[in-house]
Amino acid sequence: MACVSFPYDAPVSQTLFDRASLVTPGGVNSPVRAFRAVGGTPRFMVSGTGPYLTDADGREYVDLVCSWGPMILGHSHPEVIAAVQEAVARGTSFGTPGEGEVALAEEIVARIEPVEQVRLVSSGTEATMSAIRLARGFTGRAKVVKFAGCYHGHVDALLAAAGSGVATFGLPDTPGVTGAQAGDTIVLPYNDLAAVREAFAAHPGEISCVITEASPGNMGVVPPLDGFNAGLKELCAANGALYISDEVMTGFRTSKAGWFGVDGVRPDLMTFGKVMGGGFPAAAFGGRADVMAHLAPAGPVYQAGTLSGNPVATAAGLAQLRLLDDAAYAKVDAVSAEIRGLVSEALAKEGVAHTVQAASNMFSVFFTDRPVRNYEDAKQQEAFRFTAFFHSLLSQGVYLPPSAFESWFVSTAHDARAVERIAAALPAAARAASEATA
Ligand code: PLP
Repeated sequence: MACVSFPYDAPVSQTLFDRASLVTPGGVNSPVRAFRAVGGTPRFMVSGTGPYLTDADGREYVDLVCSWGPMILGHSHPEVIAAVQEAVARGTSFGTPGEGEVALAEEIVARIEPVEQVRLVSSGTEATMSAIRLARGFTGRAKVVKFAGCYHGHVDALLAAAGSGVATFGLPDTPGVTGAQAGDTIVLPYNDLAAVREAFAAHPGEISCVITEASPGNMGVVPPLDGFNAGLKELCAANGALYISDEVMTGFRTSKAGWFGVDGVRPDLMTFGKVMGGGFPAAAFGGRADVMAHLAPAGPVYQAGTLSGNPVATAAGLAQLRLLDDAAYAKVDAVSAEIRGLVSEALAKEGVAHTVQAASNMFSVFFTDRPVRNYEDAKQQEAFRFTAFFHSLLSQGVYLPPSAFESWFVSTAHDARAVERIAAALPAAARAASEATA
């Protein structure tokens, strides 16, 4: 960990964190929120408006996390809030079918051509877990191929990372996942089609699916090389396996039709979350109708959820998606490009080796001057410089993801004033990064 002094100017957050740590493991409900990668006091947020968050100490931040992607219209968008209020007033959960979930499913099917049918769930984890179960049920095969550095939620079978060698069987990444649960997972290096070809050759007739982030954002932003996704699709088709594109992060963010709208490669199954929930727990998986027909109650593969298609979550998601037209994406893409340029300029001025990588409006900064094509490359960066950069920006009211291995997110609400505040904070942050020591 770098030698960084933390400005402990968040006493209310610190008190809340102390309270939280007594009743919640590590003081948080999702590990990255604890600031373990960067140190210091996690900021407890109390409100959000447009591109800004306000913490419990009353400090305002330009938000470059956007709830890890969902808040693509900024916080408290009036039309989303109105839709939520209208839905809440009619009741919060019925445990029956409702029109809102039909409308949301129709919107998804209309936007994303390979999705002929879709099933709503409550989290991205549920979506990927269910898609894999369906792929196994459909093909009658057990093995799953995933890529090191791609995160698909905390699904047991997918919490496995590569050991050494090209095609290793997954070893559990965490206590609590058994060898049996991870043993059918084959973990390969990202952007390496030869490794996928070898895996199919080594396990003929055994691989049910290849799951990949459509364009990874969970090792920092590492877009697929030209032809990688198309190659995956081809190899899957040639070997009787399903190609699952995880668009939980990229879906409805990187374009109107997510990453499919960018590369046009047609998956057999896709998973969604984040943006489609408008800040509420709503997610989905969908794809080929003949595959989806295997899902209960139409078919034998069981999948269910008490709060699936929740009326408040679907109202929020639908309101958000309906506001996301071409103009909205053009705006998010433009502000993302502007911020990327400013960050790169500030770091270059201080002589800090860095590489900014983007996938449409998702982007991240790697503290290395070499292109990052996979998880091994990402790990070569000087993450201690990120720590110093992060804390300098935080102390100046700019909120970055608290890890060097995450995507940054912007929204339609990031206007000139928000960008100016980032620009004003960058020179000192770049200097801090340049002066940081390992
Ligand atoms: N898939 C991807 C690509 C993700 O980025 C995430 C979460 O960040 C998930 C799945 C899991 O989604 P959730 O956190 O909603 O369970």
